[in-house]
Amino acid sequence: MNAIQEFTISGVAVPRDPISMLDQICEHFVEHAEVVRTENRALLSSKIGTASIHIDDTQLVIELACPTQQMLHMSRTVIAEHLFYFAGEDPLDLSWSDQAQLASLPNIYEVTVASVEDVTPHMRRVKFACNDIAPFVDGDMHVRLLIPPKGRPPIWPGIRKDGRVAWPEGDDELLVRAYTIRAIDTERGELWIDFLQHPAPGTKTPGADFARDAKPGVKVAFLGPGGGSIPQAQSILFAGDESSLPAIARIVAEASPATRMQAIIEVASEAEEQPLPSAGTLDVRWLHRDTYPADAKSVLVDEAEKAINVMENETFVWVACEKAAVRAIRSILKGRGHDRKKMYAAWYWEREEK
Ligand SMILES: Cc1cc2nc3c(=O)[nH]c(=O)nc-3n(C[C@H](O)[C@H](O)[C@H](O)COP(=O)(O)OP(=O)(O)OC[C@H]3O[C@@H](n4cnc5c(N)ncnc54)[C@H](O)[C@@H]3O)c2cc1C
Repeated sequence: MNAIQEFTISGVAVPRDPISMLDQICEHFVEHAEVVRTENRALLSSKIGTASIHIDDTQLVIELACPTQQMLHMSRTVIAEHLFYFAGEDPLDLSWSDQAQLASLPNIYEVTVASVEDVTPHMRRVKFACNDIAPFVDGDMHVRLLIPPKGRPPIWPGIRKDGRVAWPEGDDELLVRAYTIRAIDTERGELWIDFLQHPAPGTKTPGADFARDAKPGVKVAFLGPGGGSIPQAQSILFAGDESSLPAIARIVAEASPATRMQAIIEVASEAEEQPLPSAGTLDVRWLHRDTYPADAKSVLVDEAEKAINVMENETFVWVACEKAAVRAIRSILKGRGHDRKKMYAAWYWEREEK
């Protein structure tokens, strides 16, 4: 990255096994950042800044440098959340050089429901009015939607000393779900989110229900943006379902005329198809679950595999759907030796075992 990195902070992490932790960091972030690894050091560079992490005896020394204070906050939170995730059940001690300047979360935006409409029978669009739209323009594609408990004034999250998000607990606990910013209307100051209405018999679906019941004037918050940007590639292969259709639609809508794209999208039925306008060239193959034989298990994975087998090596493969399907497609890509920098494979939901 070329921007001047003016804001810095350093941290020290003491994991059970620093080498394995550094390996996991590199393995994970290769799909989100430029990663340069030497034996004891990793340098991660992205548009929000750089993270230099090196092993010093039993600890990892972390140096973050970012062009803005806000990006520094976000980098620290991202690194802290991931280190604790990688540590799992193992103990991890993490401390930072300057607590005072990073006392609260800077990337929480209170937003208000402006309008609600159905895009298809099972896709409900909520448009949110946002006082400050600037951080979302050219930002990452996703947000965490924070919904306060009904009838209580919202308590938005703060930040822990170790850099992780401090979530309100007990009666103030928030409902938190990840969604994609489907579109940004800068003139009206609105952000759109498309919520799949996924009836799960006998199970609560609070995120989907929020959109079903949303009324203009309701206040919620977005935490973000984060979690993946629009791929810059000449050739893109998408494989996804309804949960990632908003993301696919946005990437396609913002693609340049020179981009060649192929999309395999699984939806419940023909009624769930959406027009996907693009300046680029797009070939879409819709898969309809209501036409599958009763014993069909992995139609999306099988179709993605066929497309992967005949694609050019340079193609960027973008995959997001249910966890097991993402894992299957990821292992197909791994088996083919596909460059990790040319893929995004993220699970957007997980099927519950019956
Ligand atoms: C980065 C990211 C971006 C996302 N963007 C979007 C988006 O723009 N629009 C969108 O609709 N979703 C999106 N998702 C998926 C969304 O976060 C999940 O579907 C979430 O689980 C929905 O929350 P819920 O409260 O409705 O259901 P949950 O409480 O999470 O789950 C309730 C039950 O529903 C099942 N379930 C959950 N999701 C689905 C599904 N898609 N199909 C079938 N069954 C399901 C679960 O297995 C469970 O049994 C995104 C996820 C990620 C990680």
